[in-house]
Amino acid sequence: MKKIISLVTFVFSTSCMAQQDLSQVEIIPHQLSDNIYYLEGSGGNIGVSIGDDGVFMVDDQFAPLSEKILDAIEGLSDQPLRFVINTHQHGDHVGGNQNMGREGAVIVAHENVRTALRAGFNDGDLNQALSADHRIGLPIMTFTDSVDFHLNGEDIHIFYNGSGHTNGDSFVYFKNNNIIHTGDVFRTVAYPRVDVGAGGTFHGIVASYEKLLEISNANTRFLPGHGVVSSRADVQAQLLMFMTIRTRVLNALNDGMSLEQVLAAGLTAEYDARWGDPVGMLTAVYTELSSQ
Ligand SMILES: [Zn+2]
Repeated sequence: MKKIISLVTFVFSTSCMAQQDLSQVEIIPHQLSDNIYYLEGSGGNIGVSIGDDGVFMVDDQFAPLSEKILDAIEGLSDQPLRFVINTHQHGDHVGGNQNMGREGAVIVAHENVRTALRAGFNDGDLNQALSADHRIGLPIMTFTDSVDFHLNGEDIHIFYNGSGHTNGDSFVYFKNNNIIHTGDVFRTVAYPRVDVGAGGTFHGIVASYEKLLEISNANTRFLPGHGVVSSRADVQAQLLMFMTIRTRVLNALNDGMSLEQVLAAGLTAEYDARWGDPVGMLTAVYTELSSQ
């Protein structure tokens, strides 16, 4: 199934990751069920459904890893790669798109993902025609609310829940296996990242967590964009933390505190050891609440 892989770095790879030496990265498959795996490498966790109907993949990390990713998939299935879903527009999730497109995969994403990736070409001039190289890395099938796939004995529900991490976040719900790939809305490695420049909002992340809780049950497994497979209780615990932090920031705002004062006030002190630097999140929450 493997053809010649271009090592041209996809234009949206983030600058810091472009400097990282990806040649040492190993792609490690983890089995979640009879036909669902995820691949750990560098960048977002890749979800993979295998079976008689072909390979269905969620996100594709960085272009220089494509050959290793395809090798890993070949180790799981002898069927062709048919679909790649992009959970959102970030380079560590879509960097392999051109290579996967060349493999013959149909790339699917929310329409905002295509718009964002499209705008990255031709200096954002949407009137200029795209080259074949650019076209093959873009989602050629887009949706606004949801789209369903039925393959490998599985109903896969892909749905948009408004802006959160970016303005194009989708969840991929493998219904028969009760596994949800959450993209970067839900992560277990750090406080939530609100990419304001990409249309993300903190209140959207909160709403997305509420939606995840609404559609899931105690046995649902959550595959995060970054981090480890988690339970509904883990999602619930994070949501509770977000609500607590939001209330504290709102109270500080009502007390007339500036952003600088909020950042210095230790509002997240008991969470920081686990979740790291809160500045980005607090800035997003403060900015959002003060504009309401
Ligand atoms: Zn991201």
